[in-house]
Amino acid sequence: MRIKEHVILSRYTTIGIGGRSRYFIEVANKDELKKAFEFIKNKNLEYFVLGGGSNLLIEDRELNIAIIKPRFSDIKVQGTTVVVGASFKLPILIKTLLEEELSGLEELAEIPGEIGGAVYMNAGSYGREIGEVVEKIEIFNGDQFITIKGDEIGFSYRKTRIKRDWIITRVWLKLSKGTRYRMSSLINTVKIRRRKSQPVGQKTFGSVFKNPEGYSAGYLIDMCGLKGHRKNDAKISEKHANFIINTGKASFSDVLTLMETAQKEVRNRFGIELEPEVIILKEDQDGQKRRDFSCN
Ligand SMILES: Cc1cc2nc3c(=O)[nH]c(=O)nc-3n(C[C@H](O)[C@H](O)[C@H](O)COP(=O)(O)OP(=O)(O)OC[C@H]3O[C@@H](n4cnc5c(N)ncnc54)[C@H](O)[C@@H]3O)c2cc1C
Repeated sequence: MRIKEHVILSRYTTIGIGGRSRYFIEVANKDELKKAFEFIKNKNLEYFVLGGGSNLLIEDRELNIAIIKPRFSDIKVQGTTVVVGASFKLPILIKTLLEEELSGLEELAEIPGEIGGAVYMNAGSYGREIGEVVEKIEIFNGDQFITIKGDEIGFSYRKTRIKRDWIITRVWLKLSKGTRYRMSSLINTVKIRRRKSQPVGQKTFGSVFKNPEGYSAGYLIDMCGLKGHRKNDAKISEKHANFIINTGKASFSDVLTLMETAQKEVRNRFGIELEPEVIILKEDQDGQKRRDFSCN
């Protein structure tokens, strides 16, 4: 277990925004995770689990919390089942599955992040969600390790019943036998579509808002004329209006301002409320004494 202090979190988010965390605890196995919890309980700290930081907007001041960074990155292939550590990177997993000719996640090609984060968010694209292939997961609830079956996880659109304070440690994926040719041509199609329509390679956290039922959030924001709209170094992508880009030194509040502008304009014009997909991590401050930790 490695405990660091006052760690700059912008390095751990794909949008490159985030202040320092009081503690940053890296855990590589179950014993270390238990010890990390003893530490957190002794210090009476709030905590937050960090995956690949690819769907996160973190406040850019010091947060009096412990960030837990799991480093579980083992992988085992057992027939058509793959048992994978929560910190295994999704793009590397998709490459591995191609080599093993195990099909089921090709549509998720080029989604950054880790398998734990992808399961927590029920990440998906092009008609496929990771929840469709999750057989079971192992989580740590602060006291013990528990296994939860896929059909008990409550996978829905970018949502699960996994509690915010649980830590996913391992995931069992049930895949089907595929062929390298078919799989790689689907992966390539997905990559080409992504590069055409999304600001790939830029500092962003992916989709800002969930698509409201029957609509595309990007289309609604675009119809309000907001593509290219800026607040300092934060900009609504010209390629896809549901992406915000950090073009330099964008701050937490710059991004929030753009999000609020998009919500307000879409509400006024279409009467539709946009719900954030991005997870926002901040401490509420009303008075010196109370420092609540919250995220959506
Ligand atoms: C360019 C780009 C394109 C993207 N395209 C898509 C897309 O097409 N579809 C899509 O669904 N998403 C997309 N995303 C968003 C993001 O990549 C996914 O949501 C991803 O699954 C998040 O994983 P992460 O490991 O980065 O999680 P983080 O961003 O680190 O965390 C997200 C949430 O998961 C929780 N979490 C992370 N790891 C664990 C764990 N081990 N145990 C418990 N909770 C955990 C965190 O606490 C947090 O609440 C995109 C992002 C970018 C930057």
